[in-house]
Amino acid sequence: MAEQMIHEVLPVGWLQCNCSIVGDPETREALVLDPGDDVNRVLEALARHSLTVRLIVSTHAHIDHVGGLRKLHEVTGAPVLMHGDDLGLYRHLDAQAAWLGVPPPATAQIDQVLKEGDTLRWGRFAASVLHTPGHTPGSVSLYLPPDAGKLVTSSVGPQSHSNVGAGADPGKLFAGDTLFAGSIGRTDLWGGSAPDILRSIHEKLLTLPDGTLVYPGHGSSTTIGEERAANPFLQSG
Ligand SMILES: [Zn+2]
Ligand SMILES: [Zn+2]
Repeated sequence: MAEQMIHEVLPVGWLQCNCSIVGDPETREALVLDPGDDVNRVLEALARHSLTVRLIVSTHAHIDHVGGLRKLHEVTGAPVLMHGDDLGLYRHLDAQAAWLGVPPPATAQIDQVLKEGDTLRWGRFAASVLHTPGHTPGSVSLYLPPDAGKLVTSSVGPQSHSNVGAGADPGKLFAGDTLFAGSIGRTDLWGGSAPDILRSIHEKLLTLPDGTLVYPGHGSSTTIGEERAANPFLQSG
């Protein structure tokens, strides 16, 4: 059975930001999401799969998610994309670095500013940009609908969740630091908003199909159904 999608999650840096590599096994084109650090490991994984980077996307401008944007761009030449509402945060990365007591990483030029409803295309894949403010003003999530790679699969891959029926690609959501397994992103940092993050999650994420696999910016993966049913931050009282 031909592989439908290459997906590697690499926890990078001392805050263990999940960097995702999503590659098309047919065209060998990849999107890299949140290369926060450890760019050499990201490049090794890309080389192992013979992937060429087409897009470098940042879910938001927190220092642990953006530290490798410049280096990955310099090595691959791929454009760097981020939501416009986080550009201010990105330009003042030195403030985040000082707050954490670490040296500020080099910043990249942002080649394309993302907005709600944009479609990102690479290989045979197309992902929608969901603007999900709250953790930061410009936080985005990326949604790859079921069968994003088009061909119908007859087997489930190792990444598939057990509650997914055989033969179905349930779709994938890359949630940044907006939604975690059993938790949600903090809203007490620069530009954070508790009402906004709850609105984003309820209106844009929980409306996705239950089986959707969720890959948060930190920690383990989950599903939309699991979080709708059991995430303590999302139960209406
Ligand atoms: Zn964050
Ligand atoms: Zn983070």
